[in-house]
Amino acid sequence: MEILIVEDEQEIAQLIKQTLVTEGFSCRIANNGLTALDIFKQQQPDVVILDLMLPGLDGLEVCTRIRQQPYEKDPYILMLTARGEEIDRVIGLSTGADDYLVKPFSPRELVARVRALLRRSLRHGVQEDNSQTYRTKHFTVDLDQHVATRQLESQTAEELDLTTLEFNLLSTFLSYPGRVWSRTQLIDKLWGNDFFGDERVVDTHIRRLRKKIEPDAANPTFIKTVVGVGYKFEDDNQF
Ligand code: CA
Repeated sequence: MEILIVEDEQEIAQLIKQTLVTEGFSCRIANNGLTALDIFKQQQPDVVILDLMLPGLDGLEVCTRIRQQPYEKDPYILMLTARGEEIDRVIGLSTGADDYLVKPFSPRELVARVRALLRRSLRHGVQEDNSQTYRTKHFTVDLDQHVATRQLESQTAEELDLTTLEFNLLSTFLSYPGRVWSRTQLIDKLWGNDFFGDERVVDTHIRRLRKKIEPDAANPTFIKTVVGVGYKFEDDNQF
């Protein structure tokens, strides 16, 4: 698996590279957008880790140009941003980035995110698998059986009593731990295109789900609010 890291801050670029090389990925670094596009023309990577704030061509422009290239392999693009509000802008522009990670992030978070992208890419290559189970440290969702379980302090798992909507919301979160979801994206996942109404309805369902899965709903451990953007689910995952 080939990864291209586009980041002008040397220290961050090296840290990302070291982390991914340790995990067995092959990495190249570009310090600016033009170099990134040059490298891209020579050999298309599977994943591009793309910093938003770059000198010259910024991350959005690089992302757009990569997407315009008529290459066989369409890479997954993980955008790095410094602040939550930038994510909002990136999502709003729908540049074609597949995922977003807000700095500062832990190496473990980065690796989990890259693996999640590659898992998606593998899934595209094979027949869609309908028997699917998502697992994080404390939660399991079995889409086949439509059963969600939680495991907290004790060793025993308890089945969660969720409405269909809450179940789908939890499955969405578990399918992609650590990913930031905007309300619009969650609405697309949960209601599809037939949704007409106030997108704050998402908040109501999040509140109900938190009451059922959080040890302290007022102080959420798992479903985190990302100010100005939406929500993300955090739990140690299986990697
Ligand atoms: Ca930068």
